Amino acid sequence: MKSECAAIDALLDERRRFAPPPGFVARARVADPAVYAEAEDWEAYWERWARRLHWFSPWSTALEWSPPDARWFQEGTLNACYNCIDRHLPEGAGRPALLWEGEPGDRRRFTYGELATEVERFAGVLKSVGVGRGDRVAIYLPMIPEAVFAMLACARIGAPHSVVFAGFSPDSLADRINDAGAEVLVTADGGYRRGKVIALKRNADRAAARCPGLRSVVVVRRGQGVGSDGVEMTVGRDHWYHELAQSVRDGCSAEPMGAEDLLYILYTSGTTGKPKGVVHTTGGYMTQVYATTRTVLDLRQDDVYWCTADVGWVTGHSYVVYGPLAAGAAVVIYEGAPDWPDRGRFWEICERYGVSVFYTAPTAIRAFMQWGDEWPAARELGSIRLLGTVGEPINPEAWIWYRRAIGGDRCPIVDTWWQTETGAMMISPLPGVTHARPGSACRPLPGIDVDLLNDGGESVKAGYLAITRPWPSMLRGIWGDRPRFLETYWSKWDGIYFAGDGAKVDDDGYLWLLGRVDDVLNVAGHRIGTMEVESALVEHEAVAEAAVVGVEHPVKGQGIAAFVTLMGGREGSDELAAELRGHVADSIGAIARPEVVLFAADLPKTRSGKIMRRLLGDIAAGRAIGDTTTLAEPAVVRGVRERYREAEGG
Ligand code: ATP
Ligand code: MG
Repeated sequence: MKSECAAIDALLDERRRFAPPPGFVARARVADPAVYAEAEDWEAYWERWARRLHWFSPWSTALEWSPPDARWFQEGTLNACYNCIDRHLPEGAGRPALLWEGEPGDRRRFTYGELATEVERFAGVLKSVGVGRGDRVAIYLPMIPEAVFAMLACARIGAPHSVVFAGFSPDSLADRINDAGAEVLVTADGGYRRGKVIALKRNADRAAARCPGLRSVVVVRRGQGVGSDGVEMTVGRDHWYHELAQSVRDGCSAEPMGAEDLLYILYTSGTTGKPKGVVHTTGGYMTQVYATTRTVLDLRQDDVYWCTADVGWVTGHSYVVYGPLAAGAAVVIYEGAPDWPDRGRFWEICERYGVSVFYTAPTAIRAFMQWGDEWPAARELGSIRLLGTVGEPINPEAWIWYRRAIGGDRCPIVDTWWQTETGAMMISPLPGVTHARPGSACRPLPGIDVDLLNDGGESVKAGYLAITRPWPSMLRGIWGDRPRFLETYWSKWDGIYFAGDGAKVDDDGYLWLLGRVDDVLNVAGHRIGTMEVESALVEHEAVAEAAVVGVEHPVKGQGIAAFVTLMGGREGSDELAAELRGHVADSIGAIARPEVVLFAADLPKTRSGKIMRRLLGDIAAGRAIGDTTTLAEPAVVRGVRERYREAEGG
């Protein structure tokens, strides 16, 4: 089937690779296929979910839609923190809320009752440094319980937070503080990553030097007081959290917030350029996050749930903090690296806490796959009943491995497509309802409508992913940049959201995400999705991870350069490169045969773990490397560039 879409065309024949594995039995508990039919009246569907939250006062209208501006649950008032804590009390006071483990092995746990105390104290501290309703607070913390306390404390007093991932540099932090106009920063003396102490306060000081509007810095002492010795406190500006906390006397009740009041600003990871401050409000966001936590992650109060995302990303906001706590589950939080002290750390944690629902990213799954089955096999993972993935398209090969090696071939996998901008999951199978297919995010969730469109706005089988009607947790804007909001998401078609991803739909209505529209290749007039070529490469037993980009080609216009990392124990060679090129040609067609296959020790990734194809494209084209502020390991780029020059013989 050919579409007339300019950036993405008919992508591939689907015969191969994507065949579903032998039927599997879901062990989830929400199994009710009727939910799709129930959601046909979609506004009523979202209202039903909204009613399951606690509201101080009811809304008058479900939705006012004046594209691209949506106002959900107008006049209703609620508090996000209240919904995560207070409404579970007093009955749930003794139930576990946070199960925390530091990288060095220190552990802390908090019941819902204790969480309430901690968050109220944190809120009191924020008030004591002058934070009030509407004031933005920047949070730059490692994955310690205080990161959750700080976010919920902000929500409690109606101060929007702007969480900045602790791996970001002082410059990135300063840009985000200034853009959000935050006057207060919450940070820590340090945190652990791969056995090293990250000197967060020192980074924060460097950032603060560039932030004229910053009045106060609240410094949390990380458990063992790591790096506290070297911490310099600027008198008048900097305060130790534990010292301020001593003078907090009273509890702090939750502010009733308007449904459309700002809950937070979150800057996107920047895979595609300058970070944008995505704005989320309270009522619609909490409604959709809660609904998807219940229906997709199937979370209940008796679940022990672990989402490995950092709170610095949207997944950490929606599915480490707001969703699972609203559902009353026990949330596992781990501070450090998955390979510290060894490559079995994640499975050790799953075993120790009896994790029942596990949610991670394809990039992590591909790393586990490369490290080998022996690590998960050494642990008892029978408590896991549901697996999830988010962040990138998952290669079918990785999906099948995840299902077998982690899920023991008994757990459903929910491949959830969504974005910082969508706030919550949008496309995903429902466990126990959907017969999933490896590599497909399946169908839009109940209450959500998407389409694949071409430039002219016509429905096609392969095209741009478009969201055709408003949804509760949609972004309400880009902080301080209305033109960019309109241009980025709403300028392609009238009143329809442009997601920036390409996708195709098969005859059964299953959606297959193909990657970002900007990454789509055009080889001799054929549109080829990066995802398809990468999945063909990963399918080869020698390959752990692959990224492909277009390179200029005198005849074809564009040729394909493939960067691959190999499975443990495998070595790159000219023979293997030739074999891989042939393998892609066999599985997709000669048109997709890469011009060059390059073996790299590692691929450049954003700090959220996504492959940065833009940089690989620059390398392959011999261009100067663009903005790398969001890159996790700049040295990887040097390594890849050197290998590429060698391979090119220059
Ligand atoms: P930036 O917008 O700054 O470039 P980003 O898009 O990487 O950064 P996120 O909002 O975290 O930041 O990621 C959303 C994107 O991740 C989606 O647009 C899509 O490209 C990809 N993605 C997320 N989940 C999936 C999934 N399940 N399948 C396919 N792609 C996914
Ligand atoms: Mg994006």
